[in-house]
Amino acid sequence: MFIDHKLINSIIDETKNPEVDEARKVIEKAKRKEKLSYKDIAILLSTEDESVVKDIYTLAGEIKESIYGKRIVMFAPLYVSDYCVNNCVYCGYQRCNEFKRRKLTMEEVKEEVKILEKMGHKRLALELGEDPVNAPIEYVLDCLDTIYKTQNENGEIRRVNVNIAATTVEEYKMLKEKGIGTYILFQETYNKDVYEYMHPKSLKSNYEYHLTAFDRAMEAGIDDVGGGALFGLANYKFEVLGLMMHNAHLEEKFGVGFHTISVPRLKKANGVTMENFPNLLTDEEFKRVVAVLRIAVPFTGLILSTRETKEMRKEVLRYGVSQVSAGSSTGVGGYKDREENGKDDKQFQTSDERSPLEVINWLLDDGYIPSYCTACYRTGRTGDRFMTLAKSGEIQKVCEPNAITTLVEYALDYGDEAFKEKAITTAKKVASELKDPKTKKIVENNIERLQKGERDLFL
Ligand code: SAM
Repeated sequence: MFIDHKLINSIIDETKNPEVDEARKVIEKAKRKEKLSYKDIAILLSTEDESVVKDIYTLAGEIKESIYGKRIVMFAPLYVSDYCVNNCVYCGYQRCNEFKRRKLTMEEVKEEVKILEKMGHKRLALELGEDPVNAPIEYVLDCLDTIYKTQNENGEIRRVNVNIAATTVEEYKMLKEKGIGTYILFQETYNKDVYEYMHPKSLKSNYEYHLTAFDRAMEAGIDDVGGGALFGLANYKFEVLGLMMHNAHLEEKFGVGFHTISVPRLKKANGVTMENFPNLLTDEEFKRVVAVLRIAVPFTGLILSTRETKEMRKEVLRYGVSQVSAGSSTGVGGYKDREENGKDDKQFQTSDERSPLEVINWLLDDGYIPSYCTACYRTGRTGDRFMTLAKSGEIQKVCEPNAITTLVEYALDYGDEAFKEKAITTAKKVASELKDPKTKKIVENNIERLQKGERDLFL
């Protein structure tokens, strides 16, 4: 198995108290853009020297700025079914939890999508529990059809990332045919013993089967896969090294590693209290994880959800995170419930309840360019093609213009007058600073075309 537990444990032991010099050498190595070893990564996670820690954050911030500029990609989750045959100790959907389970009808999926479109979303993450009888792959495929077909005035969903349980090559092929964006699956924990403890007697119990899901997805032709660990289940250093080994395995076998890595942190949920989890991360540890991941895999998008507070989101956006959700509900039918009753049932507790418009305003005020771009996947810039463009820096030529264009589109369709003014002024300013005169012209032209009513312009 490609997660070498013995090696990870020995590296964690060996790097408990790294010398300051040793840590500085790793930082220099990262500055030279050399690939870091597992030991280097563990050293960055473990060093306690204040000045080195400061340098880690500074470097992570510089790397982020140089690759992602000020762009932040926006998305929202859509929960369609909470039927689940698994018994994950940490999850509100665990089968032992008694509550009225439901799955959305296609009519209800449409309603949820329309609400999400009204919020301005273009990119969704489709979420559901695992239940081959109540929510088989055919149900997921129907949901995908419905989501892509549902439009609301100018609103449309242009990319659906899918987070469903580990499955077979045949089923991944079906997902691929429906035109999914990224296939997302969290390993939950890379530590096999902890994994088995956390997933008792269920379909999800098999560590190897779960771990090899991306191998099957990639064999089925899915180019972009998004990994993650549920931070708080096992030692966080183990999870980071596990993620890196998993990434290396995919790179070696398929020529491309994770498209994204998510960093969910364990939260309270129905029947789940935090006392039973001895490996919860402090905020400081969590921030370090984000910074070290940014340094270790600069070209892999880092996704942060509304599990984190506004303050934490603000901080980790500075030195790592490139994609955030906004206005999220983690309950089935949650968007409609929230509209009608002001509350929604959740899979787990969220901590940032602001609307997308509030989040986007806040991002703009902090100097970011919120991006609703979905162009890469729609133009076939996926998998190793995407990574090659990203690593050569070529991708910048399309990312920045597309971010500006989609921000203006969002502002025109969903902003109030004050927001329109602010977003368009910012967009024009950023466009005027674009280095390539040809691209600058295209973007300035696109802003005018959008103001005249055209939509969905991208490079
Ligand atoms: N059913 C899919 C599977 O088996 O992978 C996953 C879908 S689930 C809706 C999405 C993710 O929510 C899980 O992979 C897990 O990491 C996360 N999750 C579950 N319980 C959580 C909790 N209490 N706090 C934070 N995240 C949680």
